[in-house]
Amino acid sequence: MSPHVVIVGCGPTGMNAAVEAERRGCKVTLIDEGSRPGGQIFRQSSIGSELRIGLPAELKRKAELLHRFDAVAERIDYRVNHTAYAAFAGPELHISSGQSSAILKPDVVLLATGVCERAIPFPGWTLPGVVYAGGAQALLKTQGIRIGERVVVAGAGPLPLAVAAQLSMAGARVVSVALLHPLRSILSHPYALWAGRKVVQEGWQYVNILRRNGVKILSRYVPLRADGEDHIDSIQLSQHDGTGRAVAGTEIRIGCDVLAINYGFTVHSELAAMAGTDLQYRAERGGWLPVVDRYCRTSVPGILAAGDGAGLRGAWVAQAEGRIAGAVAAGCYDQSKLSRIELELADSFRQRKIHESFQNAVQESLHLPAGVWSWADEGTIVCRCECVSKKRIEMAVEDGHTSLNGIKRNTRAGMGWCGGRMCLQNVAACAGLRSLPLDYQPVTPRPLARPVALAALREQQPL
Ligand SMILES: Cc1cc2nc3c(=O)[nH]c(=O)nc-3n(C[C@H](O)[C@H](O)[C@H](O)COP(=O)(O)OP(=O)(O)OC[C@H]3O[C@@H](n4cnc5c(N)ncnc54)[C@H](O)[C@@H]3O)c2cc1C
Repeated sequence: MSPHVVIVGCGPTGMNAAVEAERRGCKVTLIDEGSRPGGQIFRQSSIGSELRIGLPAELKRKAELLHRFDAVAERIDYRVNHTAYAAFAGPELHISSGQSSAILKPDVVLLATGVCERAIPFPGWTLPGVVYAGGAQALLKTQGIRIGERVVVAGAGPLPLAVAAQLSMAGARVVSVALLHPLRSILSHPYALWAGRKVVQEGWQYVNILRRNGVKILSRYVPLRADGEDHIDSIQLSQHDGTGRAVAGTEIRIGCDVLAINYGFTVHSELAAMAGTDLQYRAERGGWLPVVDRYCRTSVPGILAAGDGAGLRGAWVAQAEGRIAGAVAAGCYDQSKLSRIELELADSFRQRKIHESFQNAVQESLHLPAGVWSWADEGTIVCRCECVSKKRIEMAVEDGHTSLNGIKRNTRAGMGWCGGRMCLQNVAACAGLRSLPLDYQPVTPRPLARPVALAALREQQPL
């Protein structure tokens, strides 16, 4: 009998996995919170007509992938606006949509859940008008909304540049981009640059667009404070000393009504954690990651993880790994089929390797030096859901709560709606647990990884 494969996430990883598993005769169920396929990078418009945000090469890749997926979408059980809120060994997956929920017991669950953005707290970062850079991008891609009249973008890695350029191309007035590391930070890796030359080319196109549009690019700058009464009206920036600490006397103030920030990513690993898979902590790959082998298998039989959800490595790796995971899921872990998959998908294995080596170099531009934790003052909120300040976290540590679980129980940091996805890496850093070892366990997983309506739980039916 053909196996039933449930995939969580309809980004590049999940789409390619669905295509591959369906092609191999599986019954495929694909769950995604969004209303249209695409995930983060290939997010589609929600207002009918397609909005062409991005460079021609990226838009071409998007169109090709969506076309491939559309060809199988009708033959699979594709559930839009559905959330997977719990996962257990078995495998067993709990999903909900609005006021209904269901329990799925397939042969294989593939977690292709991607990442969410990360901010570093600093005074004023919770003011209205301070947004995540990817959030500003999502508004543009889904609804064509150009956020703000005067925009400053700040952060680390490639996303701030891409978002600033996309906003600028759409006609927004981007006044400045403030980067933590200099642009040339990945130029010292020639092999990696060659491996990722197509991505590098797109990156330089974005930089040129910014230069052409008169956007000032500031390197080695950090935010000191966002000011404003009930909305940001200016951002104070400063140069840093190489360790992330502000250098006195280098402060500048820029008037703006939007500050878009991105200082990296956090992997959506809460379902993997709940199912009991082994995890490891890798800051540059997005925090706590499910440990996977070459075939995307976690330590729990029947549960696979792939793409950014198994560690941030970008869209090219996601597409290649999606195919691999789809094929492995279809083979239902049968050891004898793995060598055939190696042969059949040799190109996907090769592409994954090439782009992983490029991403290893890119990740240096996401490195957060220790001084970034000096940006927050005592009163700065670190956990937004539960309004927990940096001072409160430090007090918990002084009182002897030195594990993340202990700090969470004592302060409520990480207990809110986001389940700690947005804050727990920062809570750990502010608590001085910065250099976490690879086997450092995250907080104990909660039974609900995502908010779910009580009415939905009441009516829960096994499918
Ligand atoms: C905000 C943001 C913006 C980005 N912009 C760019 C960019 O401009 N250029 C670029 O090269 N890269 C960008 N990236 C990185 C790029 O999107 C990823 O490398 C790539 O999309 C990874 O593909 P994926 O399929 O693994 O994950 P994603 O594309 O992130 O897809 C994951 C999917 O899983 C769904 N999901 C997650 N959890 C659940 C759940 N519990 N239940 C149901 N559904 C769930 C999400 O809705 C999403 O559709 C961005 C990343 C983020 C977070």
